[in-house]
Amino acid sequence: TPPDAGTPLEVLRTVFGYDSFRGQQAEVVDTVVGGGDALVLMPTGAGKSLCYQVPALVRPGTGVVISPLIALMQDQVDALAALGVRAAFLNSSQRLDERRDVEAAYLAGELDLLYLAPERLNVPDTVRLLERGRIALFAIDEAHCVSAWGHDFRPDYLTLAMLGHRWPDVPRIALTATATEATAAEIVTRLELQDATQFVASFDRPNIEYRIVGKDSPRQQLLTLLRTEHAGDAGIVYCLSRKSVDETAVFLNREGITALPYHAGLDGAVRARNQARFLREPGLVMVATIAFGMGIDKPDVRFVAHLDLPKSVEGYYQETGRAGRDGQPATAWLAYGLADVVSQRKMIDSSDGDAAHRRRLAAHLDAMLALCETVECRRVQLLAYFGQQAEPCGNCDTCTSPPQTWDGTVPAQKLLSA
Ligand code: ADP
Ligand code: MG
Ligand code: ZN
Repeated sequence: TPPDAGTPLEVLRTVFGYDSFRGQQAEVVDTVVGGGDALVLMPTGAGKSLCYQVPALVRPGTGVVISPLIALMQDQVDALAALGVRAAFLNSSQRLDERRDVEAAYLAGELDLLYLAPERLNVPDTVRLLERGRIALFAIDEAHCVSAWGHDFRPDYLTLAMLGHRWPDVPRIALTATATEATAAEIVTRLELQDATQFVASFDRPNIEYRIVGKDSPRQQLLTLLRTEHAGDAGIVYCLSRKSVDETAVFLNREGITALPYHAGLDGAVRARNQARFLREPGLVMVATIAFGMGIDKPDVRFVAHLDLPKSVEGYYQETGRAGRDGQPATAWLAYGLADVVSQRKMIDSSDGDAAHRRRLAAHLDAMLALCETVECRRVQLLAYFGQQAEPCGNCDTCTSPPQTWDGTVPAQKLLSA
């Protein structure tokens, strides 16, 4: 039998080196340690990983973590190993002998955490393997990937309800930073988490300054932003198309700003290298499509810039949320123009899928437009979209420089008095 790991707080301090739990972490950990299911909705950077890592160490057996982030598994496992946590992963990138070693360690009870890509669970061998060992808990990270309507949909997530059928006594914890009630409801239904305790944190990110500007020559506008406010800072620039990513990266490099491209059309090795450089070298700019960013834990991203209109408020929130994870001031900057709206409407009209699907896409776009067009506090509007209330923040563009609204009273009075 493994040595007794101690209480959650002892594990937090001795293994992870932190003094205290943050926010609702302690309650989540207690629920899972006690064998209960949990659904955790917390923004990026809140510290969702510890919500399953600590219980995995406290409970006997291995914590099995389902994650779509294959490219990050090695980094995650290395980081845990550096803390003395016995962690490993199984995914398609491994050689057979590497896989055999991990399987043997699991069966010998020598793993605290085992990361699995979701498609592994559709392989009968993997299920049989898991059945022969002892499981402390299942953690389903990035649980919004189960949502067929989200842009991170992974069909393999749909089969994860089977975990509750095969292992009814093993607690399950699902975690995501996607906050809408519709997504949460879909997670509960599809993962059959009706009995899970829900933990919902505030989705406010007070250190992020939201700014949405009229788009006229977006690359020049971006350059001005970088030169005036973010010289030497690390940041992410999102573009809609791969072509635009490539061109923007070339443009920035020509202007003396080191920028790396990232999109699904690039060779896997190039993508991995650019991601690794962005994480390790200070002050680099990543120019990317939305293929980049999920699960990236880089604390000092000082700005996230959108050169094109995001397709939904969820997407915008996720992408901007990658700025300022360290709590220091950060900028979320978006260039917004009507041409984007027109082209996105055309794309929706000509998209595959039924009328209901197109209506949904159009509703997502409309909510994004409402955020761009609002004269109220952006933060109030953003949080309202996620069903949360806030006071005007004093730290977004509409708060600090209220847009000029047309006041017809004065001209009307002049007209009447003439
Ligand atoms: P999320 O998955 O919610 O985006 P992570 O689990 O990646 O967030 O954690 C974000 C950062 O916060 C990590 O660097 C982590 O070490 C740190 N962190 C989490 N919980 C605590 C805590 N209780 N005390 C100090 N730092 C913490
Ligand atoms: Mg996470
Ligand atoms: Zn505001």
